[in-house]
Amino acid sequence: MSTLLESYAAGRWFRAADEGEPLLDAATGEEVARISSRGLDVPAMVRHARETGGPALRSLTFHERAALLKALAKHLNEHKDELYALSVRTGATARDTAIDVDGGIGTLFSYASRGVRELPNDTIVLDGGLERLSKGGTFVGRHLYASRPGVAVQINAFNFPVWGMLEKLAPAFLAGLPSIVKPASQTAYLTEAAVRLIIGSGILPEGTLQLLAGGAAGLLDALTVQDSVAFTGSAHTAGILRRHPNVLDGGVQLGVEADSLNCSILGPDVRPDDPEFDLFVKGVVTEMTVKAGQKCTAIRRVLVPGPVAESVVEALAARLAKVTVGDPRNPDVRMGALASLGQRDEVRKAVEALTASAEVVAGGPAGTLGGATLLDADPVRGAFMTPLLLRARRGAAAPHDVEPFGPVSTVLAYDGLDEAVALAARGRGSLVASVATHDPEVARAVVLGLAPWHGRVLVLDRDDAKESTGHGSPLPVLVHGGPGRAGGGEELGGIRGVLRHMQRTAVQSSPDLLTAVTRHWTTGAARNESGVHPFRKSLAELRIGDTIASAPRTVSLADIDHFAEFTGDTFYAHTDPEAAARNPLFGGIVAHGYLVVSLAAGLFVDPAPGPVLANFGVDALRFLTPVKAGDAIAVTLTVKQITPRSGADYGEVRWDAVVTNQDGTPVATYDVLTLVAKTWPAADG
Ligand code: NDP
Repeated sequence: MSTLLESYAAGRWFRAADEGEPLLDAATGEEVARISSRGLDVPAMVRHARETGGPALRSLTFHERAALLKALAKHLNEHKDELYALSVRTGATARDTAIDVDGGIGTLFSYASRGVRELPNDTIVLDGGLERLSKGGTFVGRHLYASRPGVAVQINAFNFPVWGMLEKLAPAFLAGLPSIVKPASQTAYLTEAAVRLIIGSGILPEGTLQLLAGGAAGLLDALTVQDSVAFTGSAHTAGILRRHPNVLDGGVQLGVEADSLNCSILGPDVRPDDPEFDLFVKGVVTEMTVKAGQKCTAIRRVLVPGPVAESVVEALAARLAKVTVGDPRNPDVRMGALASLGQRDEVRKAVEALTASAEVVAGGPAGTLGGATLLDADPVRGAFMTPLLLRARRGAAAPHDVEPFGPVSTVLAYDGLDEAVALAARGRGSLVASVATHDPEVARAVVLGLAPWHGRVLVLDRDDAKESTGHGSPLPVLVHGGPGRAGGGEELGGIRGVLRHMQRTAVQSSPDLLTAVTRHWTTGAARNESGVHPFRKSLAELRIGDTIASAPRTVSLADIDHFAEFTGDTFYAHTDPEAAARNPLFGGIVAHGYLVVSLAAGLFVDPAPGPVLANFGVDALRFLTPVKAGDAIAVTLTVKQITPRSGADYGEVRWDAVVTNQDGTPVATYDVLTLVAKTWPAADG
């Protein structure tokens, strides 16, 4: 008998006492493993996540969490051959496995890098600017995101056993939430193998990742108000979860990604000899055959202008005829097996429903093999079918209702762009749509028409095709999810996916206490003018609020003339008194904004070699009041935020800069960004 899969629960591998249910190889029908969660203490897993994993994770900053994700990505990359070897048993070809395994690892890398670049080296994230709530400035407000003391449960579909786990794990982990992963039983042996690699590496803090292999009985019962569930699977199961009392009344957050009748539209501008025509046909065939069409993002509806429908069908049929189907171990096979005979039965049922209002135009009747020869495959025990193209009659309803979760697409003709958009909307909300067009007007009209119904829209043309990642690939930096029937959830989308796991809270207080809470200097908070120029202080010595207030400097007409001549910026407002006088905003010659900022740098700088290593930019620069010849400007520079960089002997310092004129009126405000040595003199010098 094959191995019984184990769950990783509360710090140890758990093996059920019974024999479990068999899981079969998709292509050969041989038993791969057995699965059971009988006897598993699910509430103890939830407690372990809350009491051990969560606190360990939240004691780390975002940058530290990101570093662990990066180490994990590298580790999995080094061991991915083991996952490839097992993935073939799910019916996946090497191309399919790359999407699952390399796609998952790539998602970890992406979040690791965004976590360092876009999140602070802290445990909270500030959102938006400071809100002044009172006249005197003693009462201010700001939004922040904080981690929840809960657990992120993921319930995944069978089609992406590795990516499905990692794309949910990465953002939750960065957000400070431990995960409990419940893979679909059918392909859980691959998820178990990946979790064994992860746990074996010792990279993740204990309790931050647990695996529930087998039935999920009792899982939602154990969750409470700080917990969340991210579900991918059928609309039927989604409905069961939505009606769970802990979701209905208990405050458990549920994100759903379920059925989706994605479409691809051929633009009305495209003729059969245009490059977009071929790109469109290629895209549809790819989506029908990758993972044997078992992708939540696959193209189910092919919307084409009536006059070219026949040509599209012919081109699709010709391409589909070349697709080799068979055992995914054979390198000549383009499309492997469906995940199980049960899944194939489901697809056949869906095809039956579709063919009531559509005819088969390519592939075997009703999703059978249709006499096609399989490469190296057992047609009885393996879950094979050939790709199947249908053409719907006008007005058919089924293509907008029935999701055949396999290599099946239906061609529908449209008459005019409005009808194309209306047909797309009949899917009642989808994950993704694509449109092949090279016409800017068509692109805008279709994207705006589709946007309310879709989480992602791809515009495909001759310019982006070569580098395009295609219709079906969710990307870590872009939102994945869709409204309505697609479940209404949102995953990924870069840091958006992290923040979705955190709680946004508006904090109201005095500037001093807001500075203390956020570790971010707040306008109106105390400044420390100790007499030591802050440019003489290392990162270790600098404190938030350290300030240099410069002496004033008068800006002369000669300064303005010189700057104009020296830089070549001879814009009339700086050089032509008569024209400048007619300018309604200035009413005369004014100093260049960049001159003001340059003079300010001269006012605040401490020039001798010291711990400040470089200026790497300014943020949020605004010129507020014109500076005229004779005005005297001064600058106040205050340490706003200090971010040590892990793995480097320097860190980032963000300075609040305010330039004022002789009346104390701000003329420019901005943040100066510098790199400052952690110690000075440097440890080795
Ligand atoms: P299911 O909804 O049956 O299963 C999805 C996940 O939910 C699995 O992990 C399953 O576990 C789990 N599950 C099932 N019942 C419960 C429950 N009562 N409480 C908690 N968890 C539960 O979908 P499948 O993956 O089997 O796919 C079936 C169909 O779903 C496909 O044919 C397709 O139509 C659709 N689908 C849609 C996707 C999309 O994103 N559009 C993606 C994948 C599937 P277990 O496997 O142990 O039963």
